[in-house]
Amino acid sequence: MAYTLVSKTSKRKLVWVRLPPSAPYAQSFTKKALGSWHFRYPDFSLKNLDYHRICMKRIGLHVSIAGHIYESLGRARELGCNTMQIFSRNPRGWQASNLEKSDVEEFSRLKIKYDISPVVIHIPYIINLATSDDSLYKRSIDAYIDDLKRADLLGAEYFVTHLGSHVGSGEDNGIKRFSDALKEIIKRAKSKTTILLENTAGSGDGIGYRFEHIKRIIENQANPSEIGVCLDTAHTFAAGYDIKSKAGLEDTLKKFDKLLGLGRIKVVHFNDSLSPFDSHVDRHQHIGKGEIGLQALGRIIRDPRLKNAAFIMETPKESDKDDKRNMALAKKICKGR
Ligand SMILES: [Zn+2]
Repeated sequence: MAYTLVSKTSKRKLVWVRLPPSAPYAQSFTKKALGSWHFRYPDFSLKNLDYHRICMKRIGLHVSIAGHIYESLGRARELGCNTMQIFSRNPRGWQASNLEKSDVEEFSRLKIKYDISPVVIHIPYIINLATSDDSLYKRSIDAYIDDLKRADLLGAEYFVTHLGSHVGSGEDNGIKRFSDALKEIIKRAKSKTTILLENTAGSGDGIGYRFEHIKRIIENQANPSEIGVCLDTAHTFAAGYDIKSKAGLEDTLKKFDKLLGLGRIKVVHFNDSLSPFDSHVDRHQHIGKGEIGLQALGRIIRDPRLKNAAFIMETPKESDKDDKRNMALAKKICKGR
């Protein structure tokens, strides 16, 4: 889709075309830089613009797929999202019914119509690619490939992957098992959807709470550049990276950049943390009501080094009101207010 900016005063035009799916969000503007430019977009004028759309910042939520899977896109739009995360099926069972062709077509149509992008699919909870139990390992690899193919069918941009648990067999073993599983998956699935590895809080025997774990896994792949990262703010904080203070955030991003490169962060799971710093307990909280707090979350969402990442909340939800409040707050702090 081409975007056209027309100056009010000189009638000069500036046109550019949306970037390819690998980097669709690279263009962003501040309100100030926009100045007297009109922004032409199918159903927008400068007067009634939603700021986060004009700055192309992608902000959204994890959304339910209840009913038909394409209904999730309507839900996301209703909540004011321009990106979303879903499970492509029941995340707690091994059985997944096939996606209907008509549902897939409707999903693709609405994704474009509502401009929900990127669409992020989260892997089911039951998959554990770090386990030393051979039968669970095999079953997990098969289920993962099946899910990745569903992501492809739906035209999802990203596939978010928790790294799993070594279940007492040791971190090194867990990292090796995961690396090998990922190699096999990539070879067998031949998927177009980009796999993102998500950092964890490091509870129990979970791996992936140190950026070094993710680096080791990525380095082991045939093509390391094709793997991205999903950075969860609540996990990062609970794992002992101080992203609450300005200096701590600086230090954390520098560490990440040195090990993995900040360009790898395609999605930020934008959650406040109910559990304290370095607690290794994974509990998400509403934006601004947790241990990280509004000020620090604002610094993170406005950080220019993360400007191309989609920010998706996995905050607690009792009703739509919770989602709406969190969305409103995220947009507000994104603007720096
Ligand atoms: Zn997460």
